Amino acid sequence: MYPTDRPRRLRTDGVSPLVSESSLAASDLVAPVFVDATTDERVPIESMPGHERVPVDEAVARVEEIRRTGVEAVILFGIPETKDATGSRAYAEDGVVQRAIRRISAETDAYVIGDVCLCEYTDHGHCGVVEESAESDPTLTVKNDETLELLAETAVSQADAGADMVAPSAMTDGQVRAIREALDDAGHEGVALMSYAAKYESAFYGPFRDAADGAPAFGDRRHYQMDPANRREALREARLDAEEGADVLMVKPGLPYLDVVSDLRREFDRPIAAYNVSGEYAMLHAAAENGWLDLEATAHESLLSLKRAGADLIVTYFAEDLGDRL
Ligand SMILES: [Zn+2]
Repeated sequence: MYPTDRPRRLRTDGVSPLVSESSLAASDLVAPVFVDATTDERVPIESMPGHERVPVDEAVARVEEIRRTGVEAVILFGIPETKDATGSRAYAEDGVVQRAIRRISAETDAYVIGDVCLCEYTDHGHCGVVEESAESDPTLTVKNDETLELLAETAVSQADAGADMVAPSAMTDGQVRAIREALDDAGHEGVALMSYAAKYESAFYGPFRDAADGAPAFGDRRHYQMDPANRREALREARLDAEEGADVLMVKPGLPYLDVVSDLRREFDRPIAAYNVSGEYAMLHAAAENGWLDLEATAHESLLSLKRAGADLIVTYFAEDLGDRL
């Protein structure tokens, strides 16, 4: 009498929602927003269809468009008016992100997250202060401890402007502790911290670099971001960040690193975030434009996979499109 156990009994339309193990809701999603100090009008980002850089004056309108889809959280990235060696527009009181955060938190009910990094603000494009000889010897690249202070200053300036959460993405050792202490010293004990705990040196970030103008002028980021070959190291990074006070631990990118999302879910009792990055977005759009894939179905399945692997929240360029349908 084989088979006696029949999983297909639970695949009828009536019962399948009852036994579904994962779900995706608009409230799981965070939408990236790019604010650009170099433009007076919205500029479409070619490699990320549907996304634009917006001037500060349009930031509130942009966030309201997102909120109408049911997505309540945004993460802000800035394109500054000028760049320099230490990324000083990242922590300026009147920096592009600070001005946008001030307006968005005053005029909307969105949950506002500030991305804390220096690479969009430095003229060399690295995530911190670089050694003088870095150009000839790329292994030197970013000076870790000198960078900590600037990251802390950036986070505090965003919190001063009204950010609900800051998200350090520089992969500088000790950044979570430095930022947490600086926030607390400035009276921002209530501002949450989401660390990019396991951020890989990934080729999937290509379209973001078009959006935020952040490609390094020389060398690459493999001396501070993680080697895609490493899985155990992600646990070590996440453990350090948890000990230093991260409230949420993030894995970036998402789909190529589902094993890492799953590991972090098992090992830690904190919320886990996954960043469904620009390349993951662009490749589905490119295939859909060729008629090779159904965009909405593959986007939904991608994000559901991140939830199934253990992510509680997902930063994604699909937030608006899917939020509308969820
Ligand atoms: Zn960076």
